[in-house]
Parts: sequence; C-alpha cells; structure tokens
Amino acid sequence: MPEGDTIFRTARALGRALIGKPVTGFRSPYPLLTRFNDDTPIAGQQVERVEPRGKWLLIHFSGGGTLATHMLMSGSWHIYRHGERWQQPRANMRIVLENSEYIAVGFRVPVAKMMKSQDVERALRIPPATIDVSSEAFNAAEVARRVGAHATEEIGDVLLHQEVIAGVGNVFKSEICFVTATNPFCKVSLLDSEEVATLIAVARRLVKANVLEDSDDSIVTYGGRKRRTTHESDPGASLWVYGRRGEPCRKCGERIRRRIQGPDARVTFWCPQCQPMPDGSDVDG
Ligand SMILES: [Zn+2]
Repeated sequence: MPEGDTIFRTARALGRALIGKPVTGFRSPYPLLTRFNDDTPIAGQQVERVEPRGKWLLIHFSGGGTLATHMLMSGSWHIYRHGERWQQPRANMRIVLENSEYIAVGFRVPVAKMMKSQDVERALRIPPATIDVSSEAFNAAEVARRVGAHATEEIGDVLLHQEVIAGVGNVFKSEICFVTATNPFCKVSLLDSEEVATLIAVARRLVKANVLEDSDDSIVTYGGRKRRTTHESDPGASLWVYGRRGEPCRKCGERIRRRIQGPDARVTFWCPQCQPMPDGSDVDG
C-alpha cells in the first residue's frame, strides 16, 4: 500500500509534467472513463491541479472534471517522454494522459473515476485536507478529536484509519509508535491528550520529512547513519523498527518484535523495551 508520502510525491511529479499544458491525448480501457471523455473530451483541456488526498490522487481538469484514482496495493503512475520505453507491459495500462512533452501512464490502477469536481469529496468520501498529514491545511486538534472517538481501539490500528488521519500507512504506523515510545497495542483510552498530541505531531513530521525534494521512493525515519547513495535491498535499513523483526533495537539493543494487528491483519513492529504497555503487561510477538 503506498504511504501518504508516495501519493504526495506522485502528485508532485504528475503536476510538474501535466499542469499548464493542453492535454493532447487520453486513453483508458475503463468504459466509464471513456464515456466521460466522449461527453466531455479531455484532449484540449488543461490539467489545473494534481492533488494527493489520503490514498486518492486527484487530477483536476480545466473543463470542471476530476479524475480520481486510488492506488490500493497495485497501482502506480509513471511519467515518460514520447518514445521512451515503458517499464511495465502495455496490458497493465489503465489510463494514459498525454501532452506535447510527456505521457503519464497509470498502471494497474484499480479504482479510477471521472466526475464533476464539485462532487468529488462527497462521492468518494475522500478525507478532508484538514486530516491529511501532508496537507498545509492539516489541523492537529481535529485529528486528536477523531483519534479520541476510537477509545476502545489499539493506537496502531487507529493510525491506519484514513477517516481519522489520512496519509499514514503501515510502515509509518510502526515508526511513529517507536519514535513516540508508544506501544502500538495500547488502547487509545490509555493515552492522555499530551501523548495523542505527540503522536500526531510525529506522524506529520515523519511523513513530511519524507516528501522533501531530494527524497527518493524509500521511507527514511532512522537517520543514525549516513544517507545512502545507492538503493538498499533491505527495506528496514533506513527505519527504526519496520521490517526488523529479531534484529537489535537501534536504541536499546532489545530484539524487535513483529505481530499481526487488527481486523485487517496488518504487520506491526515494535521494541518491547522502548515501547512498554502503560500497565506493564507484555504483548507477544
Ligand atoms: Zn528498544
């Protein structure tokens, strides 16, 4: 699942390639998209804005339409110059948007809808910008209220609720809990308002740090070593706990644990020493 910072970077890259130039071509095997395009041709319009919103990516056109894509697990957008070789087979192509300079290709994008811009938020139940960690409009107090409404749930689960805080995925979830010394299996009701505020602040800081200009596609939360210049094959190399089961904690040396958590069975990593339960109980991992 792409994290909020990936959607943010994708939106930024698409915006750079598409905004301000007339669209010269639009293709898709999805009948609903082609029907919309038949009624209101996208070619000739301009892309006005590309916006990350939670796990949705919104492309707003000058004709008043918005293309909303949700990447789920499989989808990705690539940007190519004309004539450049695609890095995925043509059969995976779901959407193509062209202008005089670039071709933006949505590969294996499982959810794509065209709608009138004013209908988007209501129709898709897209999280408001005020709860999106990468948005300038982010409102920590509102997010804290939403977290508080899930008192009986474990914080590690609640951090993944897109209607509570949008843009935190499974990697960030474990990392945020570690950085704030919060046990991910701790119920929200056991956290005081200051602890909740710290979790939210750290969530925003970590995600935002990963959308800096020079950041690549991997998530970096652990800065204890020099920034690498080549791609690491180990996904945990730049992280505090995620993907590091059985390895020593970078702070205390204790063995990092891993456990499946919540109704959606997502993996969670934590250090039992640095992230104790408030009541001192142990969580198997
Ligand atoms: Zn530790």
